[in-house]
Amino acid sequence: MNVRKICVATSNQGKLREYQAMMEPLGITATHPTEMGIEMNVEETGATFFENARIKAHAYAKKTSLPILADDSGLMVDGLNGAPGIKSKRLTPGEDDDENNRELLRRLKDKTNRKAHFHCSLVYLDEKNDMYHFVGRLDGTIAQVPHGKHGFGYDPLFIVDGTNKTLADMNTEEKNKHTHRFHALRQWQVFMGWNPCK
Ligand code: IMP
Repeated sequence: MNVRKICVATSNQGKLREYQAMMEPLGITATHPTEMGIEMNVEETGATFFENARIKAHAYAKKTSLPILADDSGLMVDGLNGAPGIKSKRLTPGEDDDENNRELLRRLKDKTNRKAHFHCSLVYLDEKNDMYHFVGRLDGTIAQVPHGKHGFGYDPLFIVDGTNKTLADMNTEEKNKHTHRFHALRQWQVFMGWNPCK
């Protein structure tokens, strides 16, 4: 893998920390425009995760010559017909994590099916501006009450399948072994020629 530095197209510090932790062992520096003195505020106007990731990738590409990784992710709850989906961040007007979690629990109050999954669409724009798309998924169940102190977003409510922990019970290192972003990034790593078995 020749790439040594990549711009991660996000203003979400939680996501950036996760990408930095996942890329560090590969010898890749994950940076973002704020570190380069560039302020970005990209409107997510797409109808799908992929469209939003593509919009972010192209917006950031105008500001840097580095290769770009842009993701759009969100929570899809079976009992809510896939909501909040692409509106995960904007479930409540203040876009506040705690308020979003309270609102999710309110909507699920009378529902018996609390199965859910996180989806990640990851778009890679290389130095030549060629675009590639990778996806990742993490399955789980929505808890009755929030638990745990790590992470961001819906982490305190998301119990990971095969564990008895919410994502917020896990530190970054442990969370990164499970996430939808990890699975999408793993596909990108393989595409880039990185062989995890070597
Ligand atoms: P994005 O930054 O536009 O992709 O918004 C993603 C939103 O989905 C976040 O603000 C969270 O509400 C939610 N989300 C995505 N990934 C995660 C995660 O790993 N844990 C918790 N919430 C997440």
